Amino acid sequence: MALIVQKFGGTSVATIERIKAVADIVIAARKQGHQVVVVLSAMAGETDRLIGLAGQVAKHPDSRELDVLLSTGEQVTIALLSMVLRDRQYPAVSYTGGQVHILTDNVHNKARIVDIEAVRVKKDLSERKIVVIAGFQGIDENGNITTLGRGGTDTTAVAMAVALNADECRIYTDVDGVYTADPRLVPEARRMDRIAYEEMLELASLGAKVLQIRSVEFANKYKVPLRVLSSFEEGPGTLITDEDEEMERALIAGIAHNRDEAKLTLLGVPDEPGIAGAILSPIAEAGIEVDMIVQNMGVDNTTDFTFTVHRNDYGKALTLLEKTARGLGAKKVLGDNRIVKISVVGVGMRSHAGIASRMFAALAGEGINIQMISTSEIKISVVVDEKYLELGIRTLHSAFGLEGDGDVTGNAAG
Ligand code: ASP
Ligand code: MG
Repeated sequence: MALIVQKFGGTSVATIERIKAVADIVIAARKQGHQVVVVLSAMAGETDRLIGLAGQVAKHPDSRELDVLLSTGEQVTIALLSMVLRDRQYPAVSYTGGQVHILTDNVHNKARIVDIEAVRVKKDLSERKIVVIAGFQGIDENGNITTLGRGGTDTTAVAMAVALNADECRIYTDVDGVYTADPRLVPEARRMDRIAYEEMLELASLGAKVLQIRSVEFANKYKVPLRVLSSFEEGPGTLITDEDEEMERALIAGIAHNRDEAKLTLLGVPDEPGIAGAILSPIAEAGIEVDMIVQNMGVDNTTDFTFTVHRNDYGKALTLLEKTARGLGAKKVLGDNRIVKISVVGVGMRSHAGIASRMFAALAGEGINIQMISTSEIKISVVVDEKYLELGIRTLHSAFGLEGDGDVTGNAAG
């Protein structure tokens, strides 16, 4: 017997039919002898609908009241699922976040969980009840309802798993696991059986939108095994867990991409202290997030400075940069919002040399020009023209043998 937390997202509870299908999954786990805690999202589209309603009554809806409103979405699904389960003679009980003391800070609309008092849930479980909890919401120390930010139900589920010391936290969604690349772009992409927390964090922050990043950080910190799997079809999904030997042996776990990038370059700025700060301060003050930064080596006391921002911020950043350029006496400002970032990710990089050269050679083989490069311990990212997005990912996918069982040290070429 294990204690399992099962989380179902909005598409998994989008209709009454889907809620009944969720009940089947819950009952199946129960029949295997497990203790089951279920954490639910609102029906797909419901949170957006509620935000839309708020927007119709106020230009800037009060954040506390918005949380009172948004938390209702999840209250609907937990009640409905519990009714279905009870109708099938399973003793289910639903709770809002506040009822099970999911204590958060008081930052409305993006609160953080600070504590969960699991006593009530544990008692229910010991009485063989199925506990159904509303995701995405909590309560602050003054009893105000809070919400955790979009996608927050993942975090509720993981936090609940931590509080209950669960054996596994299963995140049911509309995909059957985490893939080596986006299967819509790479038909050969493969579902991974296992992936390290750190790899998942890199893949998630790079645009693989399978899980809320914060939930993975949480799972990593408390070492709760997380499993991503489909509520639409049976299968083992992908287990997200601590690094193991097999993961270290693989060169690359997967490839992520991000289409939302734009790059800006300042040519011929003085090569002296304070320049990078002078360029980026106005950008930061405007609340624009900077992703990659590259500064060239200086020649003749001047240098070139390039950085990337979210595509939505491109126009604003360009205007700011042109102003800075005049102040600094820079030669020229260049911008390009038709770029994408492609990244290879894998803990295997720590123990293998030559991954970067292999990556660059593969791209060169297809005539793909690399505009920028950045690296971290387990990731190499390149910026390329957006027209090379698909070709770039496919090329790397096959260069690293990801369509098979993954390339391992033994037959690595580079
Ligand atoms: N219902 C919330 C949202 O749509 C929370 C979640 O689904 O995780 O963001
Ligand atoms: Mg969701």
